[in-house]
Amino acid sequence: MKDPVCGMEIGEKGDSIIHEGKEYRFCCASCRWAFEKNPDQFIKE
Ligand SMILES: [Zn+2]
Repeated sequence: MKDPVCGMEIGEKGDSIIHEGKEYRFCCASCRWAFEKNPDQFIKE
């Protein structure tokens, strides 16, 4: 799984959140905060 904010590969570690039914995982709290503030900026589908 990749951190959608910084693009780093994340293993089993890291913070994860569920956003609109999908799990996103982050290397650190600051990436998670950035995502939570503005998720649409980081979601590419
Ligand atoms: Zn990150």
